[in-house]
Amino acid sequence: MQIEIRKRTTTNRKAFNKTARVYIWPNEKETVVEQMVNRRCRPHQQWRRDVMPKVIQELKLPFDTKYRWSQFAGCSCPCSPGFILDRCVDASDIHVHL
Ligand SMILES: [Zn+2]
Repeated sequence: MQIEIRKRTTTNRKAFNKTARVYIWPNEKETVVEQMVNRRCRPHQQWRRDVMPKVIQELKLPFDTKYRWSQFAGCSCPCSPGFILDRCVDASDIHVHL
């Protein structure tokens, strides 16, 4: 598992002030078309159970940090699903490569 933190550089205040998002990228090689189909049905319950606790630990976030899955975490259309953290970690987008 590899974690990449991207600080937001947008000057759009509304976008900048959103709490941190965690985007998870599965390991399997997917074609662009598969990726477009699959991103609508990611195994987020499994990720919540198996992946997110490790992410919280790796990032040294408080153990009681809450997160919820949202199909609309990164965009107003369903192209960028992810977990929304309940507290701001320097307004970052956290990309987890499984
Ligand atoms: Zn979109």
